[in-house]
Amino acid sequence: MCGIVGAVAQRDVSDILLEGLKRLEYRGYDSAGVAIVNSDNELIRLRRLGKVNALSEGLSAAPIAGGTGIAHTRWATHGEPSEINAHPHMSGNDIAIVHNGIIENYESLRDTLRNRGYQFTSQTDTEVIGHLLEWELRQSENLQEALQKTAQQLQGAYGTVAMDRRDPSRLVVARSGSPLVIGLGIGENFIASDQLALLNVTRRFMFLEEGDVAEITRHSVTVFDINGDQVSREIHESQIEHDAGDKGKYRHFMQKEIFEQPSALTNVMEGRLSKNSVLVESIGTGAKEILSKVEHIQIIACGTSYNSGMTARYWFEALAGVSCDVEIASEFRYREFVVRPNSLLLTLSQSGETADTLAALRLAKQKGYMSAMTICNVSGSSLVRESDLAFMTRAGTEIGVASTKAFTTQLAAMLMLVTAIGKEQGKINRQQEENIVKALHSLPSDISKALTFDSEIEQLAIDFADKQHTLFLGRGEYYPIAMEASLKLKEISYIHAEAYAAGELKHGPLALVDADMPVVVIAPSNDLLEKLKSNVEEVRARGGLLYVFADENSGFEACDGMKIISLPHVDDIIAPIFYTIPMQLLSYHVALIKGTDVDQPRNLAKAVTVE
Ligand code: GLU
Repeated sequence: MCGIVGAVAQRDVSDILLEGLKRLEYRGYDSAGVAIVNSDNELIRLRRLGKVNALSEGLSAAPIAGGTGIAHTRWATHGEPSEINAHPHMSGNDIAIVHNGIIENYESLRDTLRNRGYQFTSQTDTEVIGHLLEWELRQSENLQEALQKTAQQLQGAYGTVAMDRRDPSRLVVARSGSPLVIGLGIGENFIASDQLALLNVTRRFMFLEEGDVAEITRHSVTVFDINGDQVSREIHESQIEHDAGDKGKYRHFMQKEIFEQPSALTNVMEGRLSKNSVLVESIGTGAKEILSKVEHIQIIACGTSYNSGMTARYWFEALAGVSCDVEIASEFRYREFVVRPNSLLLTLSQSGETADTLAALRLAKQKGYMSAMTICNVSGSSLVRESDLAFMTRAGTEIGVASTKAFTTQLAAMLMLVTAIGKEQGKINRQQEENIVKALHSLPSDISKALTFDSEIEQLAIDFADKQHTLFLGRGEYYPIAMEASLKLKEISYIHAEAYAAGELKHGPLALVDADMPVVVIAPSNDLLEKLKSNVEEVRARGGLLYVFADENSGFEACDGMKIISLPHVDDIIAPIFYTIPMQLLSYHVALIKGTDVDQPRNLAKAVTVE
């Protein structure tokens, strides 16, 4: 989850390290630190509680000049956010390390190391890595060999970078469970937990694989795999736009990303649709054969991606006639499960590094799924590399912690996938395919229409800002859309929110309804409208405050206690994506009024790389 940046160069690296940390900071951190070997061959470390700006101020007051350094932003897992727990951690005066992840056996390692005379200065699990490395270095030829021996003793997840004051010409790095990418320069090389951190210094990257240990000098990169054999890893040219870290005219990244959805949706469909059909080959080599055989889909995801999977389940079963289960990755990976015949494992993740989802994929691959596909936004990520098929959402870098465009592009991707399966299996005929494709083509302009409701929703948000709770209701595929709406509101406004399938209301939650509980209803004009209207009446009869986001043809009329947000009619098939937009805008505006940190909500981080 944390951000790691490291550099070995001829020039001073402190600005590169700081810029890298800033580019990763959007993920939400509690402290930051840097360690650099200066021109007098001293290892200087500076750490600050709070945001990267605090570290930046510290460095302006006391600059550190030197060509080899490592830096870190922390998202505390073990030990409170504080200066002493901030990374880099040191062993003696010579070894400094940064670490992303969790060392699960840190307690026993700490006892062993204490018995060897090491003193601990922090409450982190990380500190054991530094001391263990120092110990192993005593009986090794070099730092890289010592890190290999250290890595063999660590259990849990780590991406770690280490340096030794006595030999500042190299950094050594190890990856297991947490991403690390090497950035290649000319006469200088870099390491980071995400390529975004290094885009201002290079666009050439080498992704490390599970179990890799590497040594990086100014002129060389040497990689060893999990067996200790020297290997070469492919070099990739990054496709990410340069200004991904720039808010442009928008006040927040989340706002920018909400408004980017028409173009993000255009991108996800590009090259995958002709005028009337889905181009099955565009899903990947071998996709056609897999999709024609699939009888069951097992979706695995977390958070927002889980909600998109829940929505798509309705489509898989109703349109393609393929049974579909959706499960939260952290549950799936720790239970005994039955693999159905010809089952496709489908993982969903914005970052492609979600730790639980990745672990679930690795586990499932040993259990005999027919194939593993991922729908993901980050090329080169672990999920993409380790799946048989990768359907990229091409939404562009998502910086706001609360996911928006990743969700809607995942939905569009799944609608194309459902159509491809239905077509290959003869469950969707030519006319039905044409209708779906037509609706998909109109999606970007429909979403632009939904965005014009921004100021109306801004007004409405005032009603919510002083409330403690909110209830979201929907039926059918709008139930998971209500789940996503309630997750958004919780994440960024800190208002407790719950989503219910509207039919469940009388089985419990109706007891909560009073004049202090806003009830948001998602009401497209579809087969379930009459049923939904009855549920709305149940709330009205109990004096609840209703906010109905309704199709203009749905026949709802505003009255005391019930506000109607009348939205243009859109095609049924893409309407769940359309209704997501006003929900995103609502949570955004409520958070603005409440003055929360919209892009970096408290306690949360982007790309959840710890389990
Ligand atoms: N587990 C380590 C700590 O709490 C690293 C956390 C992180 O990934 O930022 O310091």
